[in-house]
Amino acid sequence: MKVHEYQAKDILGNYGVAVQRGSVADTVEEAVAAAEAMKADGVGMYVVKAQIHAGGRGKGGGVKLAKSIDEVREKAEAILGMQLKTPQTGPEGQEVKKILVTAAEDIAHEYYIGVTLDRARKMDVIMASTEGGVEIEEVAEATPEKIVKVWVDPSLGLQRFQAQYIARKLGFEGDQMKEAAKFVTQLYTAYQKSDATIAEINPLVRTEQGQIIALDAKINLDDNALFRHPDLAAMRDEAEEDPLEVEAGKHHLNYIKLDGNVGCMVNGAGLAMGTMDLIKLAGGEPANFLDVGGTANAETVEAGFRIILSDPNVEAILVNIFGGIVRCDRVARGVVEAAKNVDIQVPLIVRLQGTNAEEGMEIIQNSGIEIESAIQLKEAADKVTAALGK
Ligand code: GDP
Ligand code: MN
Repeated sequence: MKVHEYQAKDILGNYGVAVQRGSVADTVEEAVAAAEAMKADGVGMYVVKAQIHAGGRGKGGGVKLAKSIDEVREKAEAILGMQLKTPQTGPEGQEVKKILVTAAEDIAHEYYIGVTLDRARKMDVIMASTEGGVEIEEVAEATPEKIVKVWVDPSLGLQRFQAQYIARKLGFEGDQMKEAAKFVTQLYTAYQKSDATIAEINPLVRTEQGQIIALDAKINLDDNALFRHPDLAAMRDEAEEDPLEVEAGKHHLNYIKLDGNVGCMVNGAGLAMGTMDLIKLAGGEPANFLDVGGTANAETVEAGFRIILSDPNVEAILVNIFGGIVRCDRVARGVVEAAKNVDIQVPLIVRLQGTNAEEGMEIIQNSGIEIESAIQLKEAADKVTAALGK
């Protein structure tokens, strides 16, 4: 699950990480009021920042400095409601519904630091660089030697010398080195305790006043661990997520939208992958990954059809269900019932295999609905090819 920058900063702040705080607003008036409160505390420079579930906002015009309250108003008016395009949003961009107003820091230098799991080494890795504020992927590609890494042994945890090693590699000395090492340790604790899959600060800055502080924060949380963190689960902002994926989640369907023309509905992730291959072999491209899980009943199948069909690119649907735990005749009845409730305007091919497969096929053929049935994979593939007119 992704969270907004202001939420990531709240999480980090709770673990003592030094972050640039601010006030989140969903109207211009709120943003102005927040800046006025900061002004009363002696702040003279502000930053207005779009809150969307994507990075690279600065490049797209979603992060602006403001020198006065009037400028805060002006920037807030410009950013709130804008369709913000960044390298991470896709060409259509993302509508800005919330902004963060902060006191601006005087930046002396921008660094990068991030934590994630290194699957190959089976250890968390902390990566840091003196080249912050820019796209770290480019630094990694062009000048990999400018990225320092340490791996955390899960049985030992992050060691003090490792945190200090990173701090020294970033060029810090003396008390600043200790402060930077403390930052690394607290960041790692926050990552671990919140069951994050990534915690990334770009930029981490040294201010002209000598402070070390996170100006930006990105945290992704492990969905499978959210049950342990009701407070973090409550940070979900569905308005930022793909509406079809949100809808699928409500029906406990495992759905990922893709760009192809053949919708598919399958039970089991492995069979879903195999089916996607099959679609490609048949000359199509999968429009989605959709695993309906063990219970392919009329309700889940109907939800699946609706989700697949709300994608205008879909030219055919292939249902490929293995009747192991669930019998094919039951699935067939579910498919027929669902197909009656949903107006399916594209060719529908149903392959049922496993327990009571023949009976399932009979149900499909006698349903009076235009459904192509198949038992063998080859048959299903040929029918997809025919449906696409290839
Ligand atoms: P991103 O573009 O989505 O990664 O958004 P960031 O929060 O990283 O902001 C983008 C850039 O805006 C940073 O790299 C900074 O250069 C600049 N910026 C953000 N906050 C401040 C601030 O408090 N003071 C100054 N001077 N620049 C800032
Ligand atoms: Mn950033």
